[in-house]
Amino acid sequence: MKCQTVMGLIEKIAPKKLAENWDNPGLQVGNPEQQVKKIMVCLDVSLPVVQKAIEKGADMIISHHPVVMFKGLMSIRTDAWVGKLIQALLTHNIAVYSAHTNLDIAQGGCNDILARMCGLENIDGFVPCQDYPEESMGRIGYLSQEILLEDYAKNICHSLETDCVRIVKGGRDMVKKVALCSGAGGDFISKAAFCGADVYITGDIKYHEAQQAMRQGINLIDAGHFATEFPVVRALAEYLRTEIRKLDQAVEVIEDDISKDYFSIVLK
Ligand SMILES: [Zn+2]
Repeated sequence: MKCQTVMGLIEKIAPKKLAENWDNPGLQVGNPEQQVKKIMVCLDVSLPVVQKAIEKGADMIISHHPVVMFKGLMSIRTDAWVGKLIQALLTHNIAVYSAHTNLDIAQGGCNDILARMCGLENIDGFVPCQDYPEESMGRIGYLSQEILLEDYAKNICHSLETDCVRIVKGGRDMVKKVALCSGAGGDFISKAAFCGADVYITGDIKYHEAQQAMRQGINLIDAGHFATEFPVVRALAEYLRTEIRKLDQAVEVIEDDISKDYFSIVLK
């Protein structure tokens, strides 16, 4: 199967035009014409992930976070991290394709997966895209019945398979209307409060954002950047397996099962 065909399958659900203008989705390394027999899906293209892809004989990596970050590449020095990574990828003829904010927004992408895992029903778009207002970043919806914030937070620990979440008790004790944004969604706290959400779930919340939530009377659950996004790896792999089966192709899709959150917890 051509790399280009796999790219087309992803762009079918996550068109590149949906990405934010600062973002850098698409083919990061490789050639659309190259042949693909085994795909590895991951969140981040780390050196251990590339090592694993080499061991498993994968010839294409699909990641959520782009390899070439938003400031661009000024050099390819193989004594530095990115150069080393690109050298390993090219040596083993592994293509890398990334779907980032376009996959956040996509139907069936990061936010839809997160909304389902957090038990939301009647799911709707949360923050409409500027150029494509019918598409949205984040999701908003309702729990089947209201629940104590702390109990809901524990449920989220279980469903996202994370040891802990941080909460900010800025709103009422019981929650039912939920807004969420996978990854780093601290910018949308006011929007969540404005929409009347009882709780807003995201990752990477800063101190002054927590303070803002207290002032605006909304609860927060910071479930972490990794835990809110990693579930998309399995979902995207399953989507690709289904689509590849439809095309009657013998391409295997494996998932990154070695990556963990960079943060770990130490209690006193
Ligand atoms: Zn992210």
